[in-house]
Amino acid sequence: MLTAPPKRVAIIGAGLSGLTLALALHRHGIACTLYELRRPSVSSSGALMLSPNALRILDTLGLYGRLSAQGYNFETIAYKNQAEVTTDRYYLGDEKTYGYKALRVYRQTLLTELRVMAKQLQIPITYGVKFSHIISEDDSGVSFAFTDGTVASADILIGADGIHSTVRKYIAPGVVPKYSGQVAITCAIPISKLEIPKGIEYEMPVAIHGKNGAFVMAPQNVDGSEVLAGTQRAYPEQDRAGWDALLADKDRLLALFRTGIEDWPQIVKSALNNVPIDSLAIWPYYVVPKLERWFSSGKRVIILGDAAHAIPPTAGQGASQGFEDVFTLAALLPHLSEKMPLNKAITYWKHMRQERVDKVIKLTLQLNNTRLPQAERKKLEAGQTWVSGESGQLAWLYNAKVEEDVQAWIIALMLESGYANVG
Ligand SMILES: Cc1cc2nc3c(=O)[nH]c(=O)nc-3n(C[C@H](O)[C@H](O)[C@H](O)COP(=O)(O)OP(=O)(O)OC[C@H]3O[C@@H](n4cnc5c(N)ncnc54)[C@H](O)[C@@H]3O)c2cc1C
Repeated sequence: MLTAPPKRVAIIGAGLSGLTLALALHRHGIACTLYELRRPSVSSSGALMLSPNALRILDTLGLYGRLSAQGYNFETIAYKNQAEVTTDRYYLGDEKTYGYKALRVYRQTLLTELRVMAKQLQIPITYGVKFSHIISEDDSGVSFAFTDGTVASADILIGADGIHSTVRKYIAPGVVPKYSGQVAITCAIPISKLEIPKGIEYEMPVAIHGKNGAFVMAPQNVDGSEVLAGTQRAYPEQDRAGWDALLADKDRLLALFRTGIEDWPQIVKSALNNVPIDSLAIWPYYVVPKLERWFSSGKRVIILGDAAHAIPPTAGQGASQGFEDVFTLAALLPHLSEKMPLNKAITYWKHMRQERVDKVIKLTLQLNNTRLPQAERKKLEAGQTWVSGESGQLAWLYNAKVEEDVQAWIIALMLESGYANVG
């Protein structure tokens, strides 16, 4: 049982969660090494939506200013009906109420900024290695292997290796991501190609809820000149090769994207008629089923981020929930002691994180239902779709002080055990 702060942490995966974890551990004086499959020269496509709970964490790490200057800052997404009347506004950020506007920024920009900071802090990252399996886990630590036959060891190993996590196989054998039945089809289009109707206010981003579901248009570069345009629809599950084939077959993908084009207002038609074919992408929504534990029975192997709880994207909280996992775990590890051994700390951590992830999943389902085709939406009961209420109704999500919650728990535990000096 680990009863002191770990001296050597291994992180599998230098994606968003892994890199943020490394920075957060460094902030608490804990050394770590990252092991990443992809070489840094491989670039990632697409943009991410980040809300105040994620931005507060990135701000604490000193990254917010640089990121907000490189992305599109806004507060709400307007919901319009088929007649293009604005019926609601969903707050993805709000400087006054939640401290930050929302930010849409390219994933590659975020990864680059995280990597630059990791380099400045001299955090070691080994690229081009694929974690294979855990060799052993005992009171002296964890030893593990890569697919090239090399081995390494650490006090604890943290899997931040994404939705198809290999580390998860050790913790929850047999659990595989489940297909939700929905795919998003998207493209990136210059805003100048959109025929915005005269006389109708068209604030961006916007989601038009029409007969066939919702069509979203969201600016994603600094001046808002490039817009992500996309919709989601039901599609039968494919195997890996099937999804790859669909992505590669741009004509088929375009035909799928344009299905029901006649039912949309002109602005959507203009998007669908001007799709830059190379930017066409498909994103099948897979989720990780709720796991009993995010750590091994020996407690020294832990998973977080998408590896632990990949969720559908509609609330734009995938990466953000990973950041919260990271920040809360990093706040616990420096305080490990006889009174707060690792098993106690991570049992509490999993519980508090699961509670938040569950709430986010509930919100996501409501938002998802709001995007269903009209006929399906009509069958739903009140409360199953999203309707905005009072100002600040998302404070539980955006204003959460997750690190402070952890500190309060530690203080309570120390006081309970008669410890005065918590630090
Ligand atoms: C198209 C798309 C759009 C999205 N939009 C949003 C959004 O707007 N807002 C939002 O919050 N979230 C969004 N998400 C979700 C978000 O991308 C994820 O929640 C987030 O990337 C999870 O981060 P992660 O670090 O946990 O996993 P990942 O980003 O998947 O990183 C995992 C890392 O582990 C590495 N790895 C995997 N296996 C191994 C191995 N065996 N050995 C070594 N390394 C390994 C991978 O190469 C990768 O670098 C989106 C996702 C997609 C696909």
